[in-house]
Amino acid sequence: MATVLCVLYPDPVTGYPPKYARDSIPQLPTQYDGGQGLPSPEAIDFKPGALLGCVSGELGLREYLESQGHKLIVTSDKDGEDSEFEKYLPESDVVISQPFWPAYLSADRIAKAPKLKLALTAGIGSDHTDLDAAMKAGITVAEVTYSNSISVAEHAVMQILNLVRNFVPSHEWAVNGGWNIADCVSRAYDVEGFDVGIIAAGRIGRALAKRLKPFGVHLHYFDTHRLPEEVENELGMTFHDSVENLAENVDIISVHSPLVPATYHLFDEKLINSMRRGSYIVNTARAEIMVRDDVVKALESGQLAGYAGDVWYPQPPAVDHPWRTMPNNAMTPHVSGTTLSAQARYAAGTREVLEDFFASRPLRDEYKIVDGGKLAGTGAASYSTDGNSSPGSTGN
Ligand code: NAD
Repeated sequence: MATVLCVLYPDPVTGYPPKYARDSIPQLPTQYDGGQGLPSPEAIDFKPGALLGCVSGELGLREYLESQGHKLIVTSDKDGEDSEFEKYLPESDVVISQPFWPAYLSADRIAKAPKLKLALTAGIGSDHTDLDAAMKAGITVAEVTYSNSISVAEHAVMQILNLVRNFVPSHEWAVNGGWNIADCVSRAYDVEGFDVGIIAAGRIGRALAKRLKPFGVHLHYFDTHRLPEEVENELGMTFHDSVENLAENVDIISVHSPLVPATYHLFDEKLINSMRRGSYIVNTARAEIMVRDDVVKALESGQLAGYAGDVWYPQPPAVDHPWRTMPNNAMTPHVSGTTLSAQARYAAGTREVLEDFFASRPLRDEYKIVDGGKLAGTGAASYSTDGNSSPGSTGN
């Protein structure tokens, strides 16, 4: 019997289950763009479209796990030494967490988890786990690669349009009874004709490019791995050999790289000031790719015309986190990858990984980040070999 410790975000304040806006979600093809198959567990015990990512949703895992004789503990209490997470960590064989409400798995916490064999991200991005410490402890780290990539790409498109068209302030004028068109439009532009820079042309970056191309923008990108020429041509993307070169040649940057040592605090005052005055940054990758207060300063000075994204550090951020109130921001909580549509995929993928793990079958290569004491699968392709840059803090 294994103990599975699952950290999920709290239930809606209005109660669970919510009153759903729709009765169903669309059936997608069985393959993602590029050929990777969608999650394929032997069975699921939930209705696609249900709210699964919060505590009462339990990722739809309880029936399955308990029928196999395993113990499932679900909590949202994840930070600090007195948390439920730390209480159950010593007995846990598997930890499941989502980046939206990350259970920071630091080296200290890994040292308190002698039985831990699998740290599974229900979603994408395992930087909340100290990957070096996981490698040393022989823990497998896995995530449900591709499960919410399109969800994030759609959010990035929305946030680019949101900033450039000055949507949030215009909406507020309408809600508050005004009709002040001049105030709304004095910061509004068309995206058509803009230079858009994409940092990292991975699954999300390429999906964003594909969706932005019909807007008539000029697409640029930087990635440590250059795309094949035919893909660059198909997407109409110009490659830059450094972030610095990209930054000074675009009006909008959308960030889609993992948080690794090379991207930690990449966007500091110097890089932001090298951009065209009035540039926009959208960051749905990880907050620590930015120097927090340098973003605030650039918005206050007007060097940046807008900043949007859904990633913060730590998560949840303090009520007085400056990104909540900085000028011209269109921030959301970390929601882009946890639409009800995405949840159906990553809950199914989580179940698939658990079925393989408990049957001692190898995990799908694309789901692996760390395996056998080293980076593996997607981890070997997308993360750097010098480990993990997340401090893996307790989030306080
Ligand atoms: P992916 O593995 O498909 O692509 C990552 C890309 O980053 C690869 O092309 C890789 O070559 C590139 N890369 C690695 N190091 C780099 C560096 N130093 N500079 C530039 N490029 C670099 O991953 P993906 O599915 O596209 O996801 C990307 C990131 O987005 C994840 O690591 C995660 O942090 C974030 N994400 C956020 C959400 C959300 O809800 N906001 C959801 C999913 C993923």
